[in-house]
Amino acid sequence: MLTVHTVDDIRNQVGQWKKQGLTVGLVPTMGYLHEGHESLMQAARKQTDKLVVSIFVNPTQFGPNEDLEAYPRDPEHDRAICARNETDLIFMPDARIMYPEGFQTTVSVSGLTEGLCGRSRPVHFAGVCTVVCKLFNIVNPDFAYFGQKDAQQLAVVTRMAKDLNLPVTVVGCPIIREADGLAKSSRNAYLNGEERRAALSLSRSLQMAQTRFNQGERDSATLRALIMEELGKEPMLRPDYVEVVDSLTLVPVERLSAPALVAVAAFVGKTRLIDNVTLS
Ligand code: AMP
Repeated sequence: MLTVHTVDDIRNQVGQWKKQGLTVGLVPTMGYLHEGHESLMQAARKQTDKLVVSIFVNPTQFGPNEDLEAYPRDPEHDRAICARNETDLIFMPDARIMYPEGFQTTVSVSGLTEGLCGRSRPVHFAGVCTVVCKLFNIVNPDFAYFGQKDAQQLAVVTRMAKDLNLPVTVVGCPIIREADGLAKSSRNAYLNGEERRAALSLSRSLQMAQTRFNQGERDSATLRALIMEELGKEPMLRPDYVEVVDSLTLVPVERLSAPALVAVAAFVGKTRLIDNVTLS
């Protein structure tokens, strides 16, 4: 397993593979890897000949008051996780490589980025799209793997690749959870014991919505109220949003007919967590 830090090095390596007719899968991450990231690596491993994992804490997707500085990092642990998932190459650029002096281009997707996390994180998706577009151009993967955990990000990146005719297939992968239901996230590392317990009400409330949907409930206001009520029982938790949206357009729906994404975001202490379920 190689680790490279420069654009030339990764282009040379991937170029050699492509000349041999090999397919390349990319798993873009911000590191501090866990089983959610591993599931993306395993999906790539099954589908492509070569696996590239990028590890880059992308400054442009953090707002001014967000956790860029505090974001957890552990390159040695990440390397071990990549190795045990048979990664061929880790791309670990630093910020000066990705954003050299004079950098002044932004890639942004409208529409899909207006609601959900886009409302409370106004610069986030432009940062994500810019870095992912750059990674696609640098690595030139045939397939790129993203988690449904960040459902809006998956929709936005899929749209960007389509709209810009990027020669890559974006693959969505299911949410990986802890045994008690909490969605795995690098940010779970911020939670103390009490917060960890409080955070469980995100997945619990979504599970309750799933159950009510299975029993026939199709009114989105009723499902949102149910979730809000459950989140409201947890004094340590401050909801950011609870939304029921069309799973493709991300436009809010009143009644559920086509598959709907039920998405929640909430602060537990200072930590902002997201989770979702698709009802269909
Ligand atoms: P991050 O390092 O948090 O930027 O995440 C990198 C990729 O891993 C994104 O596509 C995420 O959606 C995905 N991911 C993070 N957590 C999970 C999870 N619990 N299950 C599945 N995918 C995940």
